[in-house]
Amino acid sequence: MTGRPFTGTDLVVVGAGFFGLTVAERVAEELGRTVVVLERRGHIGGNAYSETEPRSGIEVHRYGSHLFHTANPRVWSYANRFTEFSEYVHQVWTVHDERVYPMPVNLATICGFFDRRLTPLQARALIAEQAAEYDPRTADNLESKAISLIGRPLYEAFVRNYTRKQWQTDPTRLPAEVITRLPVRYTFDNRYFDDPHQGLPLDGYTAWLTRLADHPRIEVRLDTDFETVRNDIPAGTPVVHSGPIDRYFHYREGELTWRTLDFETEVLDEGDHQGTAVLNYADSSVPFTRVHEFRHLHPERNYRTDRTVVMREYSRFAERGDEPYYPVATAADRARLLRYRTLAARERDVYFGGRLGSYRYLDMHMAIASALSLYANQLAPRWCARPD
Ligand code: UDP
Repeated sequence: MTGRPFTGTDLVVVGAGFFGLTVAERVAEELGRTVVVLERRGHIGGNAYSETEPRSGIEVHRYGSHLFHTANPRVWSYANRFTEFSEYVHQVWTVHDERVYPMPVNLATICGFFDRRLTPLQARALIAEQAAEYDPRTADNLESKAISLIGRPLYEAFVRNYTRKQWQTDPTRLPAEVITRLPVRYTFDNRYFDDPHQGLPLDGYTAWLTRLADHPRIEVRLDTDFETVRNDIPAGTPVVHSGPIDRYFHYREGELTWRTLDFETEVLDEGDHQGTAVLNYADSSVPFTRVHEFRHLHPERNYRTDRTVVMREYSRFAERGDEPYYPVATAADRARLLRYRTLAARERDVYFGGRLGSYRYLDMHMAIASALSLYANQLAPRWCARPD
């Protein structure tokens, strides 16, 4: 025995991010079962974790800005049981050639870049001409897809170099889905996300996540690596695993490639450094991809502070031991993932999920949605069919 025992535990959840905590909450609350959540880090919340920077009093998202948005009414109403949301609607600007443009590409970006006033129809016609080299229906990688949607000049200005910094992978080798996350609009609508429900937790992410975990039948064990206690879990105890799937299988099929992020944070004695929450840097001459300034995420609380917190974000390939953020998902990774999925299907009583467990880039709302589905489709029937 290497840690605390699992006596009386009905379910072990590995990972205390949105996915793991949502599963734990549902099973504890709805099924009356006892859940132990194992978390390798010293805090709950996964990459959504936030903390107050003491000199400024500003909530800092330790792993980069997290913006909550969803089109799923089930997820929205579930989230609202644990937190209230502000009215914040995310907008992003990007710097190219010392000029600032709205991002994602919209009518203002197009008019600004081509330095003329265009109606929506004129802009569509111009972009259609510049995008003609690829058909969006058959474009199957990030570069051809992006060009088919916004044309080559805008691609080269706003996407190519940013993507190279973000992925250090040739955009022709990246999946098209990476770029279709962003809308293209022929209006002056500059919202980053299309979703009808958007906002930030009024009293912060950590308060929201703490309420999610706060249940008499949930015990969270921080600083506890699943690998060091896995042999202590009694046989037959179901496990929901949201840690890296390749690590679970001791990298038997090789390592999946991930991007990780490095952050440089500074507290500045000025009220406002960049005028917005996230400013992207599209050019290769700047080494970071974007700068976060957290005061702008909560104008309703931060309007009086005369200090500000900025965080520069750098991207690189993850090595073993680094925090994995983005699945690279090249063809080789996808083949490896299939082999891991075959192994996972043979594993009895283990359910893989979450961003790391499924090797899929999941936004927070997607992690919650997939946890609710796992609960409804697999976990609830499991206990309802076998009451004890
Ligand atoms: N992207 C880009 N330029 C930008 C913003 C995004 O080329 O100014 C591309 C880039 O390839 C990125 C992808 O769009 O990986 C998805 O961007 P998103 O903002 O969704 O990424 P996240 O915020 O999740 O890192």
